[in-house]
Amino acid sequence: MGEIEIMNTALIWFRNDLRIHDHAILARIAEGDYQRIIPFYCFDDRQFQTTSFGFAKTGKYRAKFLIESVADLRESLQKLGTDLIVRKGIPEQIIPDIAKQYNVTEFYFSQEATEEEIKVEKRLIKALKQLHIQVKSCWQSTLYQPDDLPFSIENLPDLFTHFRKQIEKKSIVEECFETPKKLPPIPPIDTGNIPILSDLGLENFEVSQLAVLPFKGGETEAIKRLKSYFWEKDCLKVYKETRNGMLGGDYSSKFSPWLALGCLSPRYIYEEVEKYEQERVKNDSTYWLIFELLWRDFFRFTAVKYGNRLFYPSGIQNISIPWQENWLIFEAWCEGQTGYPLIDANMRELKTTGFMSNRGRQNVASFLTKNLGINWQMGAEWFESLLIDYDVCSNWGNWNYTAGIGNDARGFRYFNIPKQSKDYDYRGDYLRHWLPEIASIRGDKIHEPWKLSRGEQQQFRVQLGVDYPAPIVDFFKSVKYNEKVYLSAIA
Ligand SMILES: Cc1cc2nc3c(=O)[nH]c(=O)nc-3n(C[C@H](O)[C@H](O)[C@H](O)COP(=O)(O)OP(=O)(O)OC[C@H]3O[C@@H](n4cnc5c(N)ncnc54)[C@H](O)[C@@H]3O)c2cc1C
Repeated sequence: MGEIEIMNTALIWFRNDLRIHDHAILARIAEGDYQRIIPFYCFDDRQFQTTSFGFAKTGKYRAKFLIESVADLRESLQKLGTDLIVRKGIPEQIIPDIAKQYNVTEFYFSQEATEEEIKVEKRLIKALKQLHIQVKSCWQSTLYQPDDLPFSIENLPDLFTHFRKQIEKKSIVEECFETPKKLPPIPPIDTGNIPILSDLGLENFEVSQLAVLPFKGGETEAIKRLKSYFWEKDCLKVYKETRNGMLGGDYSSKFSPWLALGCLSPRYIYEEVEKYEQERVKNDSTYWLIFELLWRDFFRFTAVKYGNRLFYPSGIQNISIPWQENWLIFEAWCEGQTGYPLIDANMRELKTTGFMSNRGRQNVASFLTKNLGINWQMGAEWFESLLIDYDVCSNWGNWNYTAGIGNDARGFRYFNIPKQSKDYDYRGDYLRHWLPEIASIRGDKIHEPWKLSRGEQQQFRVQLGVDYPAPIVDFFKSVKYNEKVYLSAIA
């Protein structure tokens, strides 16, 4: 009688780690003795429902990017001799079924940081342990590994500067894992179709000609972008000077959408920066890109430290501000109809393309909370719906910070929007790009159209309140009012 062959079969659940480079699990699988593997991705139905304020949780821009990223991962895995099994539904229902059917012996996944995702992990672990399947997980989303931090997560500094200084002094970035050259095949199983937008309840669309970049999802495009930004266009050497821009593809790296889905590893970026510093130049700009990646780590570890407080109206500092939920005003902000050109241009860019610069995000978030006094969670959910680079920790962490209830020691801080507009869009090119109805205004008043005289309105053919809204609030009065509200909340 022949022996019964026991096959080692690993199921790898891909989440926000859609790549084959610097992938801890794939590197381990490549070295192991698995006869077959089941790389698996599930379009989780819950991610395509609505947020608490009723916006699409994953809007069309990010959904398209995600679809492209999954397709690219499948192609890469096929080139390594395996494949990607794709399903749509609820992972904790589908995965145990597959595991049972194909006698999976081990189950691997990358850990996430926030409750929604951790709940899914916990349910899956429970179900798989009942099937006597070994569960193995790892953390691989940050530049620094949690174990390499010079403090425990409970003792994570609340101020970025303290976090950064200790890390820079005491921690090292681990080397990237090797990309596998070959992987075991999949068992005979239906690989499944990758959904299209309409399968996810979303409409198809053409990428706007006005967009900073025609973002395409996937590791292949991510690496192409890095090669272009660092090596071909040599933009890295001036990143610190250009990073506050708003117009064009190259003022900043635009790595964020690929980082958010794990198509690009921060450690890979780090190694490429080091290479660039050796081969081209080492300066403030090369340092600054890593500095920004530290912000990303900081918000991710902060999310772990504070758990669900990140999502509470009172934020991680637990400050109860009586936020307004005035939908008329909120919608004027969403639609870019506030009468403040810098806000309107940025909000229209977000709605038309799914992207907004960091400078823009800080300004519009400050305006919503410090001028309009609107519940910051509405803004955070609007961003969640639209951002192509939405990352739960970076989005909610930055919103906490800007709303004055997060990691910011400086209390009530606001952005002076007209000044920011002049400082960061000196000639008004960005405003003209997004606001055709005021593009004819020459000179400085494009930043403050409410200062146009009657004669100037005629000259530029812009009638305030007709062609373009009058300011929705008085800038300084609204700041003063909301400062008072804030001060009484912390008193
Ligand atoms: C209200 C608000 C919401 C935000 N929401 C998100 C979000 O959902 N997803 C997201 O990736 N970023 C978010 N950011 C941070 C930042 O605006 C974007 O990361 C950045 O604009 C992306 O462009 P880039 O890749 O060209 O950045 P670069 O300037 O080239 O920076 C390189 C990388 O550093 C990281 N980084 C830079 N600034 C920050 C920051 N302030 N916080 C965290 N990471 C940072 C990003 O991963 C970025 O890709 C938000 C900022 C604000 C103020």
